[in-house]
Amino acid sequence: MKKKNQNYIVHKFGGSSLANAERFTAVKSLLSGRNEIIVVSAIKETTSLLQTVLDQAKEGQWDVSILARVETNHLSLIESLLPAHLRQDLFEMIRVDFADIKSILHGVQLINSYSPAIQDVILGYGEQWSAKILTAYLGLTGKVSYLDAATVVFIYHKRGTLYIDWEKTQAALDRFLADHNFDQLVVTGFIATTLEGRRTTLGRNGSDFSAAIMAKLFEATSLYIWTDVDGIFTADPERVRSAFAIEALSYKEALELAYFGAKVLHPMTIAPALEKHIPIYIKNSLKPSAPGTTISSTSKKSPYLIKALTSIDDIALINIEGAGMIGVSGIAARVFDILQQEKISVILISQASSEYSICFAIANQYADTAVKALHDNLQFEMESRLIEKIYADKACAILAVIGDEMIGTIGVSGKLCGTLAKANINIRAIAQGSSERNISVVINKEEVNKALQAVHAGFYLSNKTMSIGLIGPGIVGSALLQQIHETQKQLKSDYQVSLCVRGIMNSKKMLLAPDHIELETWPSQLNASTVEANLQEFANHILSDNVPHAVIIDCTASPGIASHYVDFIAQGIDVITPNKQANGGDLAYYQQLKSLVQQKNRYYLYEATVCAGLPVINTLQDLIKTGDEIVAIEGVVSGTLSYIFSELAKGRRFSEVVLEAKQHGYTEPDPREDLSGKDVARKLLCLAREMGHEVSMQDVKVHNLVPKELLTCSVDEFLSRLPDYDDQMTASLVKANAKGERLYYVGAVHQDGSLHVEIASFKQDHPFTRLQGTDNMLIFHTRRYHQQPLIIQGPGAGAEVTASGIFADLLRLVSFLA
Ligand code: ADP
Ligand code: ASP
Ligand code: MG
Repeated sequence: MKKKNQNYIVHKFGGSSLANAERFTAVKSLLSGRNEIIVVSAIKETTSLLQTVLDQAKEGQWDVSILARVETNHLSLIESLLPAHLRQDLFEMIRVDFADIKSILHGVQLINSYSPAIQDVILGYGEQWSAKILTAYLGLTGKVSYLDAATVVFIYHKRGTLYIDWEKTQAALDRFLADHNFDQLVVTGFIATTLEGRRTTLGRNGSDFSAAIMAKLFEATSLYIWTDVDGIFTADPERVRSAFAIEALSYKEALELAYFGAKVLHPMTIAPALEKHIPIYIKNSLKPSAPGTTISSTSKKSPYLIKALTSIDDIALINIEGAGMIGVSGIAARVFDILQQEKISVILISQASSEYSICFAIANQYADTAVKALHDNLQFEMESRLIEKIYADKACAILAVIGDEMIGTIGVSGKLCGTLAKANINIRAIAQGSSERNISVVINKEEVNKALQAVHAGFYLSNKTMSIGLIGPGIVGSALLQQIHETQKQLKSDYQVSLCVRGIMNSKKMLLAPDHIELETWPSQLNASTVEANLQEFANHILSDNVPHAVIIDCTASPGIASHYVDFIAQGIDVITPNKQANGGDLAYYQQLKSLVQQKNRYYLYEATVCAGLPVINTLQDLIKTGDEIVAIEGVVSGTLSYIFSELAKGRRFSEVVLEAKQHGYTEPDPREDLSGKDVARKLLCLAREMGHEVSMQDVKVHNLVPKELLTCSVDEFLSRLPDYDDQMTASLVKANAKGERLYYVGAVHQDGSLHVEIASFKQDHPFTRLQGTDNMLIFHTRRYHQQPLIIQGPGAGAEVTASGIFADLLRLVSFLA
């Protein structure tokens, strides 16, 4: 019987809280010394190591050193905690127990198998050792009793479920209490006895449940579960680094979380506490000042749509299909009956309303048994074609999002599915509990880490993280890295976006970081890197398993890199680039790339391919998407030529201006690249293709400004001989001047897809006359913009502006994925 007027508090200490002597001392400091029931697990790793040697013995050979390690751990604990005269009994206990364990293991080794009874006995030793040591240690200063829970906790199984015989248990405890007087009672967690009187366990992690049993029996005022983390987190902190401790959960939320895999709490802990309305506090014994998580009837409203997410690995999805099941009642009932007979518990069920198929998730280890039992018992249904197929999809996992906030809130499952889709993760089955407190999805096991990150961020529990790989850190690439560096912090605080540059690659080597590269010092880090450039390894790294979103930014002008965009997209990596090679190169490749992007639901963004940072591509796409009709686009799209022609208009000589433009760094190293009009043609090609025209370079009529005779000579020779051709250019200029016009090197795309790149003269009131320096200008004549065209003007070259165009694409991508 419970002693009158005593308000007990139950404390449970997990294995990590009892790892060594120091931890035992810390445990003592957490206790008041009065009215305490202290339930303990085995000391850290003991149960797992005992399980390991048991399995090894079954295979015929067990590792003696493992057992020796467990023994030494306990012996040195006793030595450190207790004065010499109190050690002997415990030393003797350890000696006898390890001798017994070795005999049992020897037996197991001989018969190459062990029964559940043997397993229970072996695994149950750890809790007895830790509880006895703690009893002796606390006994140094207090009135402490020891209780082997196997002498009072009676359990039985019915249809595969574990039950407590509360009456028998209460009676046994009362008998114990009648004979014992204590201020603190140390109880072994995890162990119990069957109704037949055999020692058993409550299953792995069962000490939490033991503590709840004690809390109910003692009608405790509170139950403290002391562990090695600051409470229940929004996700397993070992898998989602940005997870954080939840302040408060309702019993029901905690139950869903525990049931769906959150190892921090055994699922059966909740029921006894709930029944007696005992609040549960999950706290960190290493950091008691942290507030921890409170579990009670009332949960605190969270500002998020969900409280937490969790996962169960190693799931098999069993599918039963057959047109004959439609409208035939009772098949589902039969199926679950068969599973029950095999003692296989079903974790999740989903049945399409067509009744054509039933699918459910069970632990992977039972997949073969389940399929066989179903085949055996549903033979008639299979022969008569009511059921056509029964099969298991192994290597699945369940991810569940949990929270009272979901009740009655529209769009949570939409958000979940959308977030997973954006992370390129396929949903195999989905189920929502009727409580609406839990939505679970079945996905491929190897994608579970990535899914956890994506969903955690998708519901704003953590920042949206983008894994970025930058190829070609030249002037534009460097400017982009600088811009990312400067805005990173603000993006994080204002928009919850984490831009993690995890790889930088130039033509020779690459710099890869597991988390992110410190952008302040990337040049010296890349310089010091000894890793040779390898595109495939680079892509794999950027995509490594748990990043939900990966993007490669190609800042090269290389056709070689552009030819790999399809591989990146196929792998699930988005691509952003100012490189025109893919959009302005081979038509078949361009078409393949575009359709792959659609098919894979990925993003390929290339605003900076035409006129650097000017919003040309996006404007064009918007016009098309909103149903406008493009009549023509004309423009001055080369910053270099724009500069040359505006200087020519001042009466200067062609050769002199070209040389000056080269000296200013406006031209390509070989100015003929610009003067040939090829670059202009490529930009027009990009625009024409964006408009849907199937055109290639040979369809563009280009006016080449390089005299024929100078096409192949060296750059120096070209520059030295160019003055011979100045008169030709001056003649055209004079002609234009005579008409009161000015010359421009312009490109145009027409509605029929025809493309022209030429020198043309324009009247003084034409918008082109506003061009200055290296300005670009694009004029859109459309059905809607027919009286006045839509004009975009501004610098069309330069590292800063090009980088800002790429950066805008990157942020666009982040917003698409939000
Ligand atoms: P103990 O030995 O104290 O019983 P466990 O190892 O059984 O501790 O449980 C604590 C561990 O559970 C944590 O260290 C953490 O790795 C894991 N865990 C899984 N999911 C969660 C979660 N949602 N919140 C907190 N911890 C979690
Ligand atoms: N010692 C047992 C285990 O490791 C019980 C527990 O720690 O809760 O599973
Ligand atoms: Mg545990």
